Amino acid sequence: MKVLLAAINAKYIHSNPAVYSLKAYVAEYGEDVEIAEYTINHREEAILADLYEKNPDVIAFSCYIWNWHFVQPLLRELPKVLPETDLWLGGPEVSYHCEKVTAAFPHIKGIIVGEGEVTFAEILSRYKQAEFSGSKVERFDDISGLYLPGSGLTEERKLTDLSEIPFFYQDMDAFENRIVYYESSRGCPFRCSYCLSSIDKFMRLRPLDTVRKELAFFLEKRVPQVKFIDRTFNCNHVHAKAIWNFIKENDNGVTNFHFEIAADLLDEEELTILNGMRPGLVQLEIGVQSTNERTIREINRVMDYNKLRRVVDAIESGHNIHVHLDLIAGLPYEDLTSFKKSFDDVYSMHPNQLQLGFLKVLKGALMFERVSEYGLAYTDDPPYEVLRTKWLSYADVLELKRVEEMVELYYNSNQFVHTVRYLETLFDRPYDLYAALAKEYEEKGYFVQTPSRSYRYEILLNFARGIDPSTEDVMRELLTFDLYLREKCKSRPSFAADLTTFKEELRAREADKKDHIEVFFHPVWSKDPSKREKTPYYVRFSYGKRDPLTQNAEVTVG
Ligand code: SF4
Repeated sequence: MKVLLAAINAKYIHSNPAVYSLKAYVAEYGEDVEIAEYTINHREEAILADLYEKNPDVIAFSCYIWNWHFVQPLLRELPKVLPETDLWLGGPEVSYHCEKVTAAFPHIKGIIVGEGEVTFAEILSRYKQAEFSGSKVERFDDISGLYLPGSGLTEERKLTDLSEIPFFYQDMDAFENRIVYYESSRGCPFRCSYCLSSIDKFMRLRPLDTVRKELAFFLEKRVPQVKFIDRTFNCNHVHAKAIWNFIKENDNGVTNFHFEIAADLLDEEELTILNGMRPGLVQLEIGVQSTNERTIREINRVMDYNKLRRVVDAIESGHNIHVHLDLIAGLPYEDLTSFKKSFDDVYSMHPNQLQLGFLKVLKGALMFERVSEYGLAYTDDPPYEVLRTKWLSYADVLELKRVEEMVELYYNSNQFVHTVRYLETLFDRPYDLYAALAKEYEEKGYFVQTPSRSYRYEILLNFARGIDPSTEDVMRELLTFDLYLREKCKSRPSFAADLTTFKEELRAREADKKDHIEVFFHPVWSKDPSKREKTPYYVRFSYGKRDPLTQNAEVTVG
C-alpha cells in the first residue's frame, strides 16, 4: 500500500515540517510513507502528472494559506485520473471550515483537524488492517480528530505530548540549501484575536535534554540556519534561557538561529545572554503590530510597549543581533493617522527589518467573528487580506501597500542605509519619506515597470533633486558610499564622481586588490553628512572583512 504526504511550499528553500513530522511519527509504528514536496512555482499539470505517476492508494495534503489556492485544482482533477485513491486533507487552512471544504470537494475522504501525528497514525493503521484482511476500511468515525463528510466531527483529539514527537532530521541531504525548521514548543499562552495560534489551549514544551541533543545535531552538521517555529519562544523563561545558553556555549561559528519572541517578556538575565552572543548567531523577530493602545486592547494582545522599546534598545546596543519588527495594518481602531504613528514609532527603533504586514482574516480566529462589527472587507481567496475596515478605506490600504513596497526596496534591502538616513532629515517624519517615494513611483510608472536594482540608486538621486536640488552633491556621495559598502563594483556607477585627478594617489594607496578606495568630500558615514570639506577623505572598503551582521565591507577613513 502506497501512502503519499503532499506539500506545496511557497519557495524551494522552504520545507514543510508538518509532513516530515507525520512521516517520522508513523515510522515509529513501522509504517512507511512517502513525501512529495512541490513549490507554488510548479505548474499544476506537472504536479498532477507527478502524483498520478506515483500511483498512490492514499494522498494526504498539507493545507496552508499559501498553498490552498494550488491544492484546490488538484482536488478537482485527481479523482478523475486516480478514482481509487483516497484523498485526505490537514492543516490550519482546512481545519476551521471543514463543512464548506468537503461540500466543495465531495471526493475527499476526510479532514484531519488540529495536530495530525496521532490521528494520521491511526488512519494508516486502519488502512493496513484492511489491506491485511483484503477488505476495505469500514469506518474512520471512531478515530478522534477527524471531520468526515456525512458524519461531521469525531471526538476532539487530545493534544500530543511533545516528547512523543520524533526528531525528523536524520538525513540532511533532503534539506541542503533549505531552511531547517525546528519546534521546541507548541501552542501560545496569548490570545491575539487575529491569530490561529491563540486557539491552542495549552502551551507544551519539548523536554530540554531532547532539545539540546537535537540542536547539537544541527551544530555538528553546520546547517546555515535553524528557524524555531515556536509561536512565542520566550514565554517560558527556564526553557528559553536553557536553549539560548546552550546555543551560546556550543556555537560553531556558522549556524544562525531565528526566534519569534515577545520582547517585553525578556528579563535582565536573558538580555545579558543575548548581548553576549556572537554577532549573527541569533536573529529575533518581534511582533509589535501597533502602538495604538486602544488597538492593542481590542485585539487582546498583551504588550507593554514602553518595556518593549527599552528591551529592543538594549538588544540593539549589543550590535550582535538582527532584529525584525512586525507591524500589521488593518487592525481595529487603527486609522491612517494612527497607523502612521505606529509606523514612526517602530521605525524609530531602527530594526534591521521592518515587516509591514496586512491583517488576514482567518477562519477560526476571533477576528473572523467580528467582521461586521469592524466593517471588515477582505479578499475571498487566500490570503484573506484586509481591503478596508471601519477605520481604513481601500484607498488608505492601497497607500499602505505602496509604502510597504518602498520599505522593502529602500529600507529592508539594507542597500541604502546612509542615503535613507539622510533623506529622512528632509521630511517631518519617516512615514512621509516612504509615502513621497511611493508617490514618485506611481507618477513615474515604476510600480508597473519595476526598475532594476542598479537603477534604484538613480531614482533616489532624482527623487532628492526634486525635493531640494542643493542635495545633489551629498546625495551622489551617499549613494556611492552605500553601493561600495555592499559590493566591489566592476564598473563605476554613473552617479559617482569622476576620480581622474586622484588616479595617482589612489594607485599608491590600493595595496590589497580585494579592497576599493574611494574619495569623498562629505563625511557620509557620520550623523551629519551634509558639510563639504576642502580636503578629501580617502575611504577604504575592505571586502575581505565584512560585518557579520550586515555583511557590509569594513570601512577605514584615511
Ligand atoms: S500573535 Fe503571537 S503572541 Fe499572539 S496568539 Fe499568536 S502566536 Fe501568540
